[in-house]
Amino acid sequence: MKGSIFGIALIVVVAFGGLFVIQQRRAARAPDHRLHVVTTILPLYVFTKNIAGNVADVSNLVPPGTELHDYAMSPSDAAAIVEADVVVKNGYGLDDFVDTVVANNSRANHTAKIVDAGSLVDSTKPGLGASSPDGSFSVSPEKSLGTKHANPHIWVNPAYAVHMVESIRNGLMQADPKNASSYAVNTENYLERLLAVDAKFRVATRNFKDPIYVAEEPSMTYLASEYGLIEAAVVSGSPEASLSPRDMSEIIKLMKENRITVIFKNRTSAAPSVASIAKDAKAKVYDFDAFESGDTGVDLYERVMEKNLETLIRAFK
Ligand SMILES: [Zn+2]
Repeated sequence: MKGSIFGIALIVVVAFGGLFVIQQRRAARAPDHRLHVVTTILPLYVFTKNIAGNVADVSNLVPPGTELHDYAMSPSDAAAIVEADVVVKNGYGLDDFVDTVVANNSRANHTAKIVDAGSLVDSTKPGLGASSPDGSFSVSPEKSLGTKHANPHIWVNPAYAVHMVESIRNGLMQADPKNASSYAVNTENYLERLLAVDAKFRVATRNFKDPIYVAEEPSMTYLASEYGLIEAAVVSGSPEASLSPRDMSEIIKLMKENRITVIFKNRTSAAPSVASIAKDAKAKVYDFDAFESGDTGVDLYERVMEKNLETLIRAFK
């Protein structure tokens, strides 16, 4: 996904910010008011739904069927952020626009509380490959984390998902203390399921030999460093970026030299450049689901990641 999509949307919202204040005036909350939580992206929605259970209402900004890369925030999305009790964001440059939207539109009687789901994640562990800031491929070992080009795909690592769920739980308990025990119990149950996913990855990846690959986008980087996979190169920082013929031949050379026969592409992308690289390098293309679009079932994370694990097993065993 690209941060710039959100950046463009932000300008629109700041320009219309004053308008919302006038239009969105609302009555004071009733004492039996249910907590309303807005999440920015699908993984956060699914995490938060599991924590909220039937105690709080949760809605998501990016529609479930919409590819993250194609999302642009509408004025009504901005209004939803302003009106929410709690806004759950991913951080890492992906959706930090919510801070500005909330800051520019808070009122005397209502300010949405922002929960940063990525705040407990330590993503500074180095990986082998990293996408370069200009979106083209890179094989250098240094990471772009901690910069404005940070890789936001933290949810793809189940071990990080656990920390994200803990952050969201803490935020909901603070915002809605009367239901704190429900959030705590729901989270306990959900974490058990997520830890089971993590355990399956740990066990299966132990038997992989030479799990080296090239990826279309940097969505698997944190997963790779968690479970010992080697991301040799990322073809593109975003699906829109087109590769030059020279980039292509460099990746093909790298793959041949290192006998890399596995390329992961985004489940939802056509990836013509990936297909032609694979053909030249005699590599096989596998679909990876970065969980950026899908249905809204509360077990979606487990389903997506177990399917991804089956894909990894097919590629590396
Ligand atoms: Zn992405």
